[in-house]
Amino acid sequence: MKKLISLITLTVLIAGLFVGCAGESNEPCFHCAETPTRAYKTSEGKTTYVCGECSSECHFCGAPNPKKYTSVIGEVTFACKECLDSMKED
Ligand SMILES: [Zn+2]
Ligand SMILES: [Zn+2]
Repeated sequence: MKKLISLITLTVLIAGLFVGCAGESNEPCFHCAETPTRAYKTSEGKTTYVCGECSSECHFCGAPNPKKYTSVIGEVTFACKECLDSMKED
């Protein structure tokens, strides 16, 4: 029985380490309020939480593999190259 408890403790510890390494958080996503999220530091040193879905799609057109950038209001947003380029032209 003692062996089983230590095995469970070890499993929980490993699971905790794994989640820690992945940087997952239970803070709601800045864009859609979903969890889990990942913490991102803005250029101003603020922390923004963004879920996996919002960080894997362009915020504006939904294209895959977007780039991370800090928006004009100082929050972390993900956008594809096309949308970033069109914003620069403004
Ligand atoms: Zn989200
Ligand atoms: Zn886009």
